[in-house]
Amino acid sequence: MPNVDITFLGTGAGMCVYRNHTAIVLDCPDGTRLLLDTASGNSVMRQAAAVGMMAQEFEQVLLTHHHGDHMGGLPYIQGQRSLTKPEGPPLQVHSSEEALEAVRLYCKATRLRAIDIDQDGATTRNGHSVFRWRPTEAGQRVDLGATTWASSFPVDHLSGSVGWRVEAGGVSIVFSGDTRFSTELVEASRGARLLIHEALDVESNLENANGRGHSVAAGAGRAAAMAGVEELIITHIDSSFHLDPQPLIDDARRYFDGPISVASDLYRMTVATG
Ligand SMILES: [Zn+2]
Ligand SMILES: [Zn+2]
Repeated sequence: MPNVDITFLGTGAGMCVYRNHTAIVLDCPDGTRLLLDTASGNSVMRQAAAVGMMAQEFEQVLLTHHHGDHMGGLPYIQGQRSLTKPEGPPLQVHSSEEALEAVRLYCKATRLRAIDIDQDGATTRNGHSVFRWRPTEAGQRVDLGATTWASSFPVDHLSGSVGWRVEAGGVSIVFSGDTRFSTELVEASRGARLLIHEALDVESNLENANGRGHSVAAGAGRAAAMAGVEELIITHIDSSFHLDPQPLIDDARRYFDGPISVASDLYRMTVATG
């Protein structure tokens, strides 16, 4: 039976000094490879190479928002793809229009004179297309492969931020991106097999987490319980929980009685389909 294979390339919060920034690979049963966020800088390519994934194998990127720890790796993926497979298809980048507007500015600043960037995508100086921007509305179905599709939903973080629900071979996987507790996320996660949810802190420090635009683990557990998902994985981990993430699990456990784990860099798991 084909599975969905999930690889966490980076699991650190923006200011975490021990982990790589957020990037998750979903290898879907129909052969589609999705990259959920791109970490920052070249850590996305270094982490991917460590598990045998090369830049040219990434063709679809689902971005949650335009904070640097989530989209900063894009120019490096593109640069590596152009070096190793110069005639390859453009990288498809899906997100809200607001996030893509900022992503275009970032790529313009960092790839100045290397590529020409416009509203639709980007091309090299010899006219080869290297990016296609794919703005999506919340709830809009985005077809990504024969049995793989996704839809975004708004979350409560930076303006333009979204989470993603991916349907792959009949299995539903939801990624929160960065967000405070979100009722939109609960609605979008109904009945999902797996919820991957961020948590910056525990409920006794709710003000700290909310003030920085993030959730506590208890909120992730509450969302998982309200949505009726089968399993919860917590990610976007701050320095203070790097060595001992058990307090995050205990905090989420107060609301959710299904399996809970905390992701770590290069953690890999398989979700069975069918
Ligand atoms: Zn973040
Ligand atoms: Zn953020």
